[in-house]
Amino acid sequence: MLVLVLNTGSSSVKYQVINPEEKKALAKGVVERIGMAGAVLTHKPFDRDEVKLSGEIIDHKMAIEYVLSILLSKNHGVIQNKNEIDAVGHRVVHGGEAFSGSVLITDEVIKEVRRCIDFAPLHNPSNLRGIDAAKQLLPNIPHVGVFDTAFHQSMPPHAYLYGLPYVLYKRHGIRRYGFHGTSHRYVSKHAAWFIGKPIESLKIITCHLGNGCSIAAIENGKSIDTSMGFTPLEGLLMGTRSGDMDPAIILHIMSKEELGMNDANTMLNKHSGLQGISGLSSDMREIENDYHENSRAKLAHDVFTYRLKKYIGSYAAALGGVDCIAFTGGIGENSDLVRANTLSGMEYMGVRLDQEKNKLRSKEERAIHHENSAVQVLVIPTNEELVIALDTMRIVKGEPLAI
Ligand code: AMP
Repeated sequence: MLVLVLNTGSSSVKYQVINPEEKKALAKGVVERIGMAGAVLTHKPFDRDEVKLSGEIIDHKMAIEYVLSILLSKNHGVIQNKNEIDAVGHRVVHGGEAFSGSVLITDEVIKEVRRCIDFAPLHNPSNLRGIDAAKQLLPNIPHVGVFDTAFHQSMPPHAYLYGLPYVLYKRHGIRRYGFHGTSHRYVSKHAAWFIGKPIESLKIITCHLGNGCSIAAIENGKSIDTSMGFTPLEGLLMGTRSGDMDPAIILHIMSKEELGMNDANTMLNKHSGLQGISGLSSDMREIENDYHENSRAKLAHDVFTYRLKKYIGSYAAALGGVDCIAFTGGIGENSDLVRANTLSGMEYMGVRLDQEKNKLRSKEERAIHHENSAVQVLVIPTNEELVIALDTMRIVKGEPLAI
């Protein structure tokens, strides 16, 4: 079976062709700068070199047409016929309270995703454009929606409610939803496999640290809390997002700096985080390159790891203990300095890193804790596309969704 996995952004379409039965990706790529001058398609078949093609791509439908044509092409393709694609799996950012798992995309589902546009005005419209275009181009096969928010729908009300008038939750859906659910789900499941125990018997803290960062507390294989909230702005410090802050600051700055709503939104989402504190970069590699020479780079790094440490402590409290802490995402998988600084001084709660294992570079799942550590510390490279392909396969075959 072959699944085309699509992740559609406002001006980009990321794709992979995956055989979920063999858990194997045949090709992956991205179309960027859709609707702008100089659109580029970068395509990588698993067994050949990457190619880049540029041209005019005016909308998402044209982008997916380009993707299909390169998948079929003689030199760079991986299929002979469009009919070899059995289903399409779509990443959808916000499913609100309507979706606690992946679903076959029907007209009713599309209506619900449209209702969630208010919650994710930058993402859901692009996701819907991708669904619409793909359904037009591949009309005779099933399309499945996999939601970033779904895994966190198991959070109890005491974790998802804000201390605001309850009527705002009822009237406008103001609550914590959480994001990166597909990644937290994959990583917690693989952590349990790695440890060799049923996930139902484990208390796991998963740290997804990429450009966007979030952490989740997982008990019995279910998310009981996560750091992103109503939007992906809450929680940890991120590349360009502030994470947690006193909400009164926004009102204060809007008045002092005479900022409008859009400017304030841009400041919180694009000019804050590592970028804002360091004044150098949102990219953790650049922050770490300058860590010893540039005090602001060190400060940004210290704020990042200190906040992560506090969240790990609070999630251990929420879980009533912790068996495993798993790191993933570009930073979580690659930065030994972030892992070491975050977990330093946590021996009191049974967390002890093996400094040598922590420094080893690898793309594999691995344990980095000391043999005397009560808590297992793992690095688990995430694979959200594989989860989307597996969910799509199971829905198409009518099988139950595995966690
Ligand atoms: P992602 O969004 O998961 O692709 O992660 C992007 C983040 O991972 C960026 O901040 C990168 O700087 C960071 N990253 C990637 N490789 C490394 C590395 N070797 N060391 C530190 N950070 C890294």
